Amino acid sequence: MKDGILVINCGSSSLKFAVLSHAGQHILVEGIADKLGSNLSSITFKCDGEKKQIILDDGSHKNAITQIKLWLDSHPNIHDSLIGVGHRVVHGGETFSKSVLINQKVVDGIEECAKFAPLHNPAHLKGIEIASELFPGLPQVAVFDTAFHQTLTPEQYLYPIPMGLYRDHHFRKYGFHGTSYRYISKQLATISKGSHQQGVLVAHLGNGASICAINQGESSDTSMGITPLEGLMMGTRSGSLDPSLLSFISQAEDISAQAALDILNKKSGLLGISELSNDCRTLEEAMTSGDERAKLALEMFAARTAKYLASAATTLENIDHIVFTGGIGENSSYLRQAVCNRLKAFNISIDSELNESAPRGENLNIKAQTCTTNVWVIPTNEELMIALDTINLIQH
Ligand code: AMP
Repeated sequence: MKDGILVINCGSSSLKFAVLSHAGQHILVEGIADKLGSNLSSITFKCDGEKKQIILDDGSHKNAITQIKLWLDSHPNIHDSLIGVGHRVVHGGETFSKSVLINQKVVDGIEECAKFAPLHNPAHLKGIEIASELFPGLPQVAVFDTAFHQTLTPEQYLYPIPMGLYRDHHFRKYGFHGTSYRYISKQLATISKGSHQQGVLVAHLGNGASICAINQGESSDTSMGITPLEGLMMGTRSGSLDPSLLSFISQAEDISAQAALDILNKKSGLLGISELSNDCRTLEEAMTSGDERAKLALEMFAARTAKYLASAATTLENIDHIVFTGGIGENSSYLRQAVCNRLKAFNISIDSELNESAPRGENLNIKAQTCTTNVWVIPTNEELMIALDTINLIQH
């Protein structure tokens, strides 16, 4: 049966891809093209447990997708199984509240939203254009990171600034990681029947990090904003702070507002505080060897995550489930414990043995016996969600 979906996540300097089959359950090939736009770019293919890297003489997005096409041409069983292409798109603004089949109107809509995601959306558009050129017969679908949060009420999504700025420019909270939250909500409903009628808090903790409150299956609050900078402390992003800092930094350092913003996006967060790394694993190792700054960075990360979870709970009737996901949420027992330690006022507690022995890649409830809130570790799978949306849209 033909059921292969090529999933493309085309970023400004990297491009991740995978071909999924059997309703997204099998990965036939996956890989990443790195350092695009430079003369150090390469593309890696992982298939049947083997890894193959090709150095790219031409580091353009077009060449990266051409290499994927050439690889598929030399693996005709995979190539011929393809029925569609699913693209991850970061910003869908208020235009897109669900995934859509791509046509010219959708391309125009994604272009319109590029003002809020100037690095991401233009890269996605490039990916869409090149993929439609190289895979001419295949329908293409766009899956938006923002779409899941279009259920937020104005009370949650508006910033308390003059209304004209929202009316004229659509300045509001959009939220991101929506494809991950939708997957988690769906997955939770299969392992805990009835969760679709309940209150769920999800912490997607990775290099980018956010939280989401899901009330009866719909996003009711989330921490990221008009861009992914708002909310939690992240790998290199500061998360929320007093906006006056922007002008203080730019004056004190004699740099433009854009350069000051770059500091908040690229040099802050875990990296900024630890002055060592944005990578949680590296910081945990450093902390174990006595690095106080690494410890402070991790404690701040936990404190802010707990604070945002508590604040998002105001949009729920009850905290029935808390879910940890993302590279850090799935793998760092230290940070899961550190976050839950700060939620004692909500009667949240976890079983430290279960937490520490949670097997990688599996769903597990780590709540303490006495705790009435379920505390889950659930691995996210955005590629699967993109493949499923693509299948649904091309079959209807
Ligand atoms: P992501 O952006 O979701 O891929 O997550 C990347 C983050 O997950 C990095 O900060 C990694 O250090 C962190 N991470 C991955 N595995 C582990 C682990 N075993 N322990 C702690 N952090 C981890």
